[in-house]
Amino acid sequence: MALVAVTAAACGSDDSSTAGDGGNGGGGGGTDIGVILPDATTSPRWEANDKPSLSKAFDDAGVSYDIQNAQGSVDTFGQLCDQMIGEGVKVLMIVNLDQESGKACLDKATAAGVQSIDYDRLTPGGGASFYVSFDNVAVGGLMGTGLIAALDAAGKTKANIVYVNGAATDNNASLFKQGYEEALADKIDSGDYTLVGDQSGEWDATKAGDVFEQMYTDNGGKIDGAVVANDTMAGGVIARLKAAGSAGQVPVTGQDASVEGLQNILMGYQAGTVYKNTDLEADAAAKLAIALINGDDTSSLANGSVTDPDTNKDVPSALAVPVWVTLDNIQTVFDDGFAAYADVCTDD
Ligand code: BGC
Repeated sequence: MALVAVTAAACGSDDSSTAGDGGNGGGGGGTDIGVILPDATTSPRWEANDKPSLSKAFDDAGVSYDIQNAQGSVDTFGQLCDQMIGEGVKVLMIVNLDQESGKACLDKATAAGVQSIDYDRLTPGGGASFYVSFDNVAVGGLMGTGLIAALDAAGKTKANIVYVNGAATDNNASLFKQGYEEALADKIDSGDYTLVGDQSGEWDATKAGDVFEQMYTDNGGKIDGAVVANDTMAGGVIARLKAAGSAGQVPVTGQDASVEGLQNILMGYQAGTVYKNTDLEADAAAKLAIALINGDDTSSLANGSVTDPDTNKDVPSALAVPVWVTLDNIQTVFDDGFAAYADVCTDD
């Protein structure tokens, strides 16, 4: 494979840059919006994409805000939640770390009269006023159809496939799985594909690698394709495929259009990724937060609903449309300013 040519084609042209990092914006007199992001390890998106997208959306709208990151700790998450409610934020936006700590925070917000938005991840039973995310069943659908396209391109009509799922604590992991299961159902039901492994990789590169390696060993290396639920985990799986000498021969999916994911696509190790332009998600979240602050009708801002698996109630939702990105259309993430050539096109 002409890796150099492929890489040069996407990396060789002019430079572009991502949006600048967002600090705390807005004027004095209290903070309008508090945002708690979950961590900086399960995906680079929270710091690299969501934070600047949200900062820009809030800056453009002229509202004050405080964006913090719980760094994967439920204790820190709880402290940030208390702190923001104490600060008197008018709207609290959270990306939960799990249902329990997410719901505890939302309950406190409600008790304090603070309105809340579930950003990206729904908190089951949490009762947030609104959910802003991507259509996550569609995200999973793109992984499933993307894998089929990659296997077709490799001439593999019969295939052993595996699922390396996201963390069970994240409602999105179930929605993604629903999407790829639906997309792959016909192939599996017809016997063309055989599902030979189905486990969680916990949004962690090493765990995903461990899970995949075990599946690989259990199946005597006969794995033809892998749905892997995000780019961070895909990196862990690709590392094991490299060690086994089969990287690039086994299509692997991902999600987030992270720098690592984009590099793995350019190198031919990853079949594709789901690109979720966080500007869309952040703009929707900012509009909604402002409507909530002003007491405006929010119904026009919802374009769908997602069922809370705990309460079975429909949560009004603003859901953006995800895009499947392969070598063919990778340019779009650079053109949008979502990723920068300087970050993706390195020598190592
Ligand atoms: C997000 C993904 C992300 C994952 C791990 C999910 O809730 O939707 O984009 O890769 O969490 O952080």
